[in-house]
Formats: sequence, C-alpha cells, structure tokens
Amino acid sequence: MSGSFVPERWSAERWVPGERLTGATSVPASAPDAPLVGVLALQGDVLEHLRALRRVGARAVQVKSAAQLAEVDGLVLPGGESTTIGKLLVRFALLDHLRARVATGMPVLGTCAGMILLSDELDQDEPQPLVGGLHVRTRRNAFGRQLESFDARIEVAGIDGGPMDVSFIRAPRVVAVLGSDVEVLARVEDAPVVVRQGAIWATAFHPEVTGDDRLHAAFVATA
Ligand code: GLN
Repeated sequence: MSGSFVPERWSAERWVPGERLTGATSVPASAPDAPLVGVLALQGDVLEHLRALRRVGARAVQVKSAAQLAEVDGLVLPGGESTTIGKLLVRFALLDHLRARVATGMPVLGTCAGMILLSDELDQDEPQPLVGGLHVRTRRNAFGRQLESFDARIEVAGIDGGPMDVSFIRAPRVVAVLGSDVEVLARVEDAPVVVRQGAIWATAFHPEVTGDDRLHAAFVATA
C-alpha cells in the first residue's frame, strides 16, 4: 500500500483531555436504535473511545462484566497495557466470555494493546493472557518506547477522504500474518498496522486521540 508516512514526535500538548461522560457533554445523544457498542473498561483509554463511538452515532457503554458483554452488538478493546488488561480479564472472569463472543462473530476493534490481546500469537517467551482469534503474530513495543511514540498520516484501504492522522504509542508490530483471511488495510515501515479478519478489526495505533473518527465509523457500520 502506498500512503505518506510522516513520523513526528508525539507531544503532550496535542493531547485533548476528554470531557467527563457524566454531566454535560458536547457529544449528541445517539438514536435509540443505534448499535450498542461497548468499550472494555478495565484499563486504558476508555473515555476517548466512548466519545469517538458516540460522535459516529453509536450508543456506547462501558463493559466490565459478563452481563454487560452479553448486551453489546460490538466491542472495542482499547489501548493501554495488554498485560494488565489480560490479568483483569481473568480476575473479572471475562476472558472466556470474551473469547466465546469473538469466536462467534461479534464485531470487535482492538487498538494497540487491544490488537495485542486479539492476536493468536505473541513474539515473546513470557506468557500473558490473550483473547486471540486474530490470525497474526505480534511483537509488543516494537516501534519503540514511550519517548519514541509518534504521529503518522496513513492511507487506510476502504477509508475514504484522504489519509488518517493517528498516534503510535509504544505500538505493537505484526510480524507475521498467519491466515489468508487476514486483510492488511494499511502498513507502516512494511508492517501491517490496520488489519481486518471478518468481524475482527485491529490497529497498531490509537485512532481515538486525533479526532479522526472514520475508522470508528467504519467499524460501527459493521456492528
Ligand atoms: N505496549 C503496550 C502493551 O504491550 C501497548 C501500548 C498501547 O496500547 N499504547 O500492552
């Protein structure tokens, strides 16, 4: 895939803190029949995804329990720390429920740590709990450490309207695609950074911090 790749140092000033979801918010209320999309809310940047999902018209809710998971039409696994989210999935008795829903075709979008959690295999010796289902092998922190985080402008296949601005923050790298059903929708430095395998979507970057909601919109359209 072509696409201009403009690495840039990530800077704290660019971060726009989210409004609180309780109380006043500029995000309009979603239609009552809009898809109900959850954000796994154990750790990570939950609020930014909830706001992005609401901006594209979904009803967005936090998911912390099996009962909440059973209600949603689709789920976002946010960025954060995959080892922590994995441990909490075990502690909250959610891991098996989540595996079952992913295996039976629930639309799911994993971003950064979420991509790691969805991967079938990790390129590391230490085991950590994974949801799996996405036929890729992924290496954590492979684009560099926190200080090497960067913004990029990338073309994503199927996303109209020009390149997307996204943030790579201790991003994972897909080092092997293990299934012919995995579509690579964007690459950076030759590595797949947006992949889709049916209902499973994953990005190596954070699409929720730059205000470009087109990927969320494309995902919600499948939920
Ligand atoms: N490096 C983190 C991990 O291994 C992911 C970073 C992120 O989600 N921004 O889980």
